[in-house]
Amino acid sequence: VAAKPDCVFCKIVQGEIPSHRVFENDAVLAFMDIGPLAEGHLLVIPKAHYQTIDQMSAEHAAELGRVLPQLTGVVQQVSGATGCNLLQNNGVVAGQAVLHVHFHIIPRAAQDGLGYRWHPKSYPDGRAAELATLMSTALGRSA
Ligand code: AMP
Repeated sequence: VAAKPDCVFCKIVQGEIPSHRVFENDAVLAFMDIGPLAEGHLLVIPKAHYQTIDQMSAEHAAELGRVLPQLTGVVQQVSGATGCNLLQNNGVVAGQAVLHVHFHIIPRAAQDGLGYRWHPKSYPDGRAAELATLMSTALGRSA
């Protein structure tokens, strides 16, 4: 997957824009978020340019996923956080500002004021089963 001209994160991968690198291998780069929600806020990206996670090959997604446990542990260890939010805003409508897939690792502490309260809805009768069938059928298999 070629780098995308004018993509900020592709430029960070190529070293054309400075960043504080924490980890990298052939497929993945982790660096400090320039606008941290808490000290230690890390971004983890595939080096290959994908706009959203649903466009990623399973192999590239797996390479990204396999570094998340250790990076999360290090973020917690160094920041002193007792937990983290791992967040991936997928698509502009979901709040994605930089259109190159990235996982946020956001350190959390009690009373840090960040909050994270979404309000769950409920399904009308039968709708959850209907959606489950539609999705498992789209996957080409039954759950
Ligand atoms: P999102 O809203 O999920 O697309 O988040 C984009 C994140 O990228 C934000 O948290 C920004 O602070 C961060 N960001 C944008 N530009 C840079 C940069 N040059 N270096 C590091 N982080 C960046």
